Amino acid sequence: MTHISADDLRFDIATRAVHAGQEPDPSTGAIMTPIFQTSTYVQQKLGEHKGFEYARTRNPTRDALERNLASLEGAQHGFAFSSGMAATEAVLKLLSSGDHVVSGENLYGGSHRLMVQVLERFGMSFTFVDERDPKNFERAITSATKMIYVETPTNPMMRLVDLRAVAELAAARDLLVVVDNTFATPIFQRPLEHGADIVVHSTTKFLNGHSDMVGGAVLTSLDDVAERLAFLQNAAGAVPGPFDCWLTLRGTKTLALRMKRHDESGRRLAQWLVENPRVRRVYYPGLPDHPQHELACKQMQGFGGMISFDMGSFDAARAVAEGTRLFALAESLGGVESLIGHPATMTHASMPASLRESMGLSQGLVRISVGIENADDLLADLEQAMEGAG
Ligand SMILES: *Cc1c(COP(=O)(O)O)cnc(C)c1O
Repeated sequence: MTHISADDLRFDIATRAVHAGQEPDPSTGAIMTPIFQTSTYVQQKLGEHKGFEYARTRNPTRDALERNLASLEGAQHGFAFSSGMAATEAVLKLLSSGDHVVSGENLYGGSHRLMVQVLERFGMSFTFVDERDPKNFERAITSATKMIYVETPTNPMMRLVDLRAVAELAAARDLLVVVDNTFATPIFQRPLEHGADIVVHSTTKFLNGHSDMVGGAVLTSLDDVAERLAFLQNAAGAVPGPFDCWLTLRGTKTLALRMKRHDESGRRLAQWLVENPRVRRVYYPGLPDHPQHELACKQMQGFGGMISFDMGSFDAARAVAEGTRLFALAESLGGVESLIGHPATMTHASMPASLRESMGLSQGLVRISVGIENADDLLADLEQAMEGAG
């Protein structure tokens, strides 16, 4: 019996989620990948070993996770990191001083902070564009541009990037296209199939799915990029511990099931919010009146459980965010439990207020991560919080 690798794309993604990268432990038959809690490996002779020398460079539990995630994204190579930010940093370090990146403007706040407050100090430059129109990326490209960096759907405005269109204009100019696929997960969107070069994940969110670790991953099918990423992963050293890799492996086994549930409940709650007179506007790509719904149907297989809605004022938003009982007020997303947050003061507080406001990220905006609880219970919880908001 051999393990299911990224080459075995004839298996459905739900099957690969359970098996890819994992095989019963050859020494014991243990069906679960062991947690190889070790820093080093004994060598047989000088220069003779079993492929493992030091655990920053390689660890068998991490290997299994990297193969598993690569398989889910349909990639040839996977790299696990100690956080989503470490994964993003490694990808941006493929570039050098003087290089320019065109990025979508509606990014995870921490990604924006890393670019502007850290990497610009090292001579890299970034231009942020409205990601809804591919032409905006084209217009911002200069002779120094090396990379296009996007999220889709975006956090928290749920804007979409036309991956195929952006990949085509980048390919014509030899630019790398990087997609943060944290929100959609490979269950609902596989950017490499649309021409992207690199996928980034915060595995902290849906991939692990249980709000009990922090991690990141980078997936690609480009051999030369993979070689440089392996070098950066080892040289900079932001690697995850084996226990966190093991937790993530356990998480991905149920990813397909969990995403189906997030999606079903997400669609239901989004529709209920649209019909609620207290709610000014709902942002969810699964709604037929989302301005990019057609694109969502083209490049995604589901819409998930992330919904943003505008309550019209800071006070109304605060009353809802503080008034729920099942939805917990917290940063993060993608766990089995439902969370509620206020992007302007929480996840996106590090983004300039002018940029927040220009893209509609108002003080009245509330973001929910719909968990896998019973949808009737979640709906009733939102309803009582809205009533309390007056
Ligand atoms: C959380 C998040 C990140 C950062 O990941 P960490 O694991 O918190 O470092 C990056 N992108 C998106 C879309 C996220 O939601």
